[in-house]
Order: sequence, then structure tokens, then C-alpha cells
Amino acid sequence: MTPHRPTSVPAPPLLDLTGLTRRYGSLTAVDDVTLRLPAGARHAVIGPNGAGKTTLLNLIAGTDRPDRGTIVLDGADITRTATARRSRLGVARSFQQPSVMAELTVLDNVVLAGWSHHPARQGAWRSPSRLRRHTESAGRHLEAVGLADLAHQPASVLSHGQRRLLDLAAALAGDPRLLLLDEPAAGLTDGDIGRLLGVLGGLPESVAIILVEHHVEVVAQLATTVTVLAAGRVLVTGPVQEALAHPEVREAYHSTGAKG
Ligand code: ATP
Repeated sequence: MTPHRPTSVPAPPLLDLTGLTRRYGSLTAVDDVTLRLPAGARHAVIGPNGAGKTTLLNLIAGTDRPDRGTIVLDGADITRTATARRSRLGVARSFQQPSVMAELTVLDNVVLAGWSHHPARQGAWRSPSRLRRHTESAGRHLEAVGLADLAHQPASVLSHGQRRLLDLAAALAGDPRLLLLDEPAAGLTDGDIGRLLGVLGGLPESVAIILVEHHVEVVAQLATTVTVLAAGRVLVTGPVQEALAHPEVREAYHSTGAKG
């Protein structure tokens, strides 16, 4: 009798976008984008200004809805799933303009972000042990982004760069599986960019990253693969160096005079 050998089934992608399209009136901001990312991906989305990068992140996060196409996370269709539910499924987002609550302490900003992701978030307020765990975990995230010394200061004292790092700590507080970063290095000093690279480079493989970024050196250091968008369409997806060297990509950047 021939022994039974299990056939190896390839792992499904963490994120599977098919034919994603978003129109604003006559403008197609995201045009038929298909992209598959494995768990732990380090993927950058680059392209000239107005290429549709932020719109693509909005569609994945759920703050905007596609006119066409599907978004599948870990095998489940989340195309019509509400943003809050997506965040509980492990999709976290940091913004070009960080959403920091200035009157709360730096630590409380992260504690609150952790709670908002917690499945039993109503009960979380009433359980001292859970509160302690959230606070300790928030402290660790602040340490990771280099803000531990400012934990008990109001967030209003933070510089722009520090607010972005706090926004990142808040995104990490939900233990995301997919972290969406919209121009995290924009407006940061060289020192803050170094710290950001250290934090993101040190994230475990269980966290996949999609990074929209104009700084090519940040892309080159963090990402292993890249999608180049132009006028909403995918010009190329592939390994970073290959994609950046692609003639159509160079042409797209030159023709718009874009940064990056
Ligand atoms: P940048 O690098 O400048 O941030 P981007 O690649 O992120 O650009 P998007 O912000 O996604 O580009 O915008 C893509 C296109 O869609 C742009 O032409 C923009 O003006 C348009 N757009 C984005 N959001 C809206 C909206 N809510 N209503 C109308 N048009 C929009």
C-alpha cells in the first residue's frame, strides 16, 4: 500500500486585493489594483503625487470604500467590513497627520489605543488586572519608540516627530497583523528617521507592513518588495531594486517631477 502523503497547500496570502477601484467623479484614484501580500510582508507603495497611494491605504483600512474589487484578509472578505472591526481583525493605521489626543498623557494615548482594539473593551475599564496589563504593554511600546521618558507628560509637549512616533506606538498597541503606514518619515529629523527605522526594522515577522513613503532610502531599508502606482494603476510590483530601476518607473517620476 502506498503511504498517504499530505499534499503541501501553499499558505493563503495575508492580504489579497483584486481589481480594487475607487473613482471620485470622473477621476479614477485607484484603478484595478491587484496585489497579494504574504504574512510578515515588508511592502512599500510608491509613486508620484496623486498616484492613489493614500486612497489605497484608506480602502484597506476601511475609511473609504471601493467602487469595484475585493479585499480579503486572511481568507475572509472584508471589502464591506467596518473600519473598527478591521482594526480588531488586526489592521492598524498610522496617519500623515498623527491623531494624538493632546490633553491626555503620552502613556494614556497608547493605553486608550490598546483598549479600543481589545475584544472585551467595555469590560476592560472595570478590570484592574487588565488595566495594569494594558498600561504595562503601553509602556513597552513607548520604550520601543523612545518616548518612555515622556510617558507622564501631556502629549501636547511633543514635537511633530515625537507625535508621529506616538502615533506609531498607538498603532502597535492593538498588536496588529497588518500595519499601514502613510509617509511615516515625512517631516522627521534625521535622528527621528533613524529611530523610526530601528523601531520598524525590529518589529516581529508576525506584523506585515505596507508603507507609503517618498523617502527612497527609507523604502530601500525597510521594504523587500514594492508596488509602484501611477495615476491609480500598478506600473510594477516586485523586489525593491528591480522595481526602482524599471524604465517605466523612472519615466513616471521624471514626467511628474515628483520627489523620491
Ligand atoms: P500624495 O503622494 O500627494 O499624498 P497619493 O498618491 O497619496 O498622493 P491620493 O491622495 O490617493 O494620492 O490621491 C489620488 C487622487 O485622488 C488625487 O488626484 C486626489 O486629488 C484624488 N482624491 C483623493 N481623495 C479624494 C476625495 N476624497 N475626493 C476627490 N478626490 C480625491
